[in-house]
This record gives sequence, structure tokens and C-alpha cells, in this order.
Amino acid sequence: MTSAPERPHVVIVGGGFGGLTAARALRRSDVDVTIIDENNHHTFQPLLYQVATATLNPSDITAPIRHVLRSQKNATVLLAEVVGIDVANQNLTVDEGEGRAGVIHYDYLILAAGARHSYFGHDEWESMAPGLKGINDALEIRRRFLLALERAELTDDPEERKEYLTIVVIGGGPTGVELAGLIPDVLRGIRRDFRRIDPTRMRVVLIEGGPRLLAAFPQEISDHALEDLHSLGVEVRLDRGDDAFSDLILKGEEIRELAVIALGPYLHTRRCIEPEQNVSGVRHDQPVARDLAPVSRRIAVDFQVL
Ligand SMILES: Cc1cc2nc3c(=O)[nH]c(=O)nc-3n(C[C@H](O)[C@H](O)[C@H](O)COP(=O)(O)OP(=O)(O)OC[C@H]3O[C@@H](n4cnc5c(N)ncnc54)[C@H](O)[C@@H]3O)c2cc1C
Repeated sequence: MTSAPERPHVVIVGGGFGGLTAARALRRSDVDVTIIDENNHHTFQPLLYQVATATLNPSDITAPIRHVLRSQKNATVLLAEVVGIDVANQNLTVDEGEGRAGVIHYDYLILAAGARHSYFGHDEWESMAPGLKGINDALEIRRRFLLALERAELTDDPEERKEYLTIVVIGGGPTGVELAGLIPDVLRGIRRDFRRIDPTRMRVVLIEGGPRLLAAFPQEISDHALEDLHSLGVEVRLDRGDDAFSDLILKGEEIRELAVIALGPYLHTRRCIEPEQNVSGVRHDQPVARDLAPVSRRIAVDFQVL
């Protein structure tokens, strides 16, 4: 008796919107699907702002990937980080944690590993200004945000208090605009929780390198966003150049003007800076991009596949 031939093995890297959509699209196909993610959960990124500002908890916006796919019999979910691709032999190298490595063969490979922020060659900025792409990013911003309020409540020094009560958001794309716009609302909600400070007096400054907010959208949307942010009391600074962040750091006067304290050992929690990712600020620095597109780190996508 001959055994049935093995079905094609489709490996999907990433359990975000892209990976899950691909897996579901294959639910009735005669293939075995393996979905690999370095996290065991899918993250609903559009609600990351709410986690970053402590209005939602991480578990509100995440779901275990294996639970999402539990009824899809041809799908297997593995928790591992893909660290390399051997395209010639159709193998993935995965880091399974605790010093264990593995190799997974694929017949078809779907890359849906998402993107990280680009700091335009200044990776050292990241520790000062976390991006907002995953739960850990959101929790770090939340920690800084809440700690700034706590420190402002603690201090007796009015100047210091002013510094703690200043938030700078860098990047006027969707993430920056939405985050900057949400903060005043959150502050109103916690107004009565403090005795010595008025959280609604927190200064929110949004800095954008280009001449307008939401540059990828039509001008009227940009105008609306600017108007709305002004009405919420957010200070918007446009046209700060490509190197807006570096400008902010290097020009001491500018920093004082913004009431954010100077760099170096003082930086710690007094400022909560959140850079925005936008098309030019997104970097595909996954190993997958490194192996497949070593120079550009950008991979052409065929939108007709799904
Ligand atoms: C703050 C924020 C708000 C947004 N708001 C909106 C919105 O309102 N509307 C809208 O349409 N879009 C919005 N987006 C965009 C949208 O969320 C993304 O376009 C979408 O999530 C991208 O899906 P993805 O599957 O490509 O990547 P991701 O969702 O990033 O998923 C990638 C997955 O791959 C995994 N992974 C990465 N590298 C590896 C590796 N080496 N090994 C194993 N696993 C790996 C990650 O753990 C992750 O689970 C927002 C994005 C953000 C960040």
C-alpha cells in the first residue's frame, strides 16, 4: 500500500492581520498551513493608543493566535522567531527560545511579518522615543505617561512640574495625530484623581517634519486634523524638517522652549516622546527582509495573491 502524498506545506510568518487573513483564505485548500509568530497573540494595532494611554489593557486588544485559528483543522500555530530564510532550499531557521533552534521546510512561504519604525539612521533615538507598533511599545509609553503625571504630583518645584507636564509627540501621521488628540481626553478623565496638579494643564506638543499633518491624505483631511487638534489644545509644529527629532535634541533653546528638559541623564521620564511611523518611517528590518532584500529591506508585494 502506498501512503498518500504529503500535501503542500504553506508556512506563514506572522499572525497579524496579514498572516491571519492568509491562513483563513487557505482554510478549504488541500494544504497544511503553519503559522509562525514570535508572540503567541495577535495584536489589534488600531487600539494600541488606548493601551498607551491606559484606557484599555493589553488583554483587551490581543487574542491568542491558536485560539483564533482553533477551528481551522489544516492550520498549526507555532511560537518561534524566524531568524533566517534559506530561499534556495526553502527552509526557515527559527529561534524557539531557551537556546533552541529549528528548521522548518516550506513549499510555499507567505511573509506577513509587519514592519518596525525607522529612525532614519538614528537607532539611538529609540530608547528616548519608543514607537507604537506592539504591546510592549504601548506599555512603555503608558509607563512614561503615567510616571510623568505622578512625578508632577510629587514635586514642589513649579519649573520641574511644568517639565513633567509636557508631552512631545513626534510625527504627524495617523499614529501621531491620533495619539496627540487622545491625550487631552484621557487627561480630562483623570482630572479628579490628582490633588496637587491639574492633569488637563498638561502641554501636548505635536511635531511634524513636513508642511502638513497626515501627508498621505488629501489636504482637507490635514486641515481638519489641524483644526481639531488646535481645538483640543494640542500645539502643532509643522515643517520641522526631516530631522525634527534631532533638531529638538540638539537645540537646547528649542527644548527649553518646549519645556521639555535637556538630554542626557536628565532625560529619563520627564518627557514622553512618541515618534510616528509613516511610509518613509517604516523599516522592514526583519530577518526575512534582510535575507530577501538585503539592500532595500523592502519587498515587492503582489496584491493579487489574496
Ligand atoms: C498604532 C496603530 C494604529 C493603526 N490604526 C489603524 C487603523 O485605524 N486602520 C487601519 O486600517 N490600519 C491601522 N493601522 C495599521 C494596521 O494595524 C497595520 O497595517 C496592520 O496591523 C499590519 O498587519 P500585518 O499583518 O502586516 O503586520 P502586523 O500586524 O505587525 O503583524 C506582524 C506579525 O508578525 C510577527 N513577526 C514579526 N517578525 C517576526 C519574526 N521574525 N518571526 C516570527 N514572527 C514575527 C509579529 O509578532 C506580528 O504578530 C494602525 C497601526 C498602528 C501601529
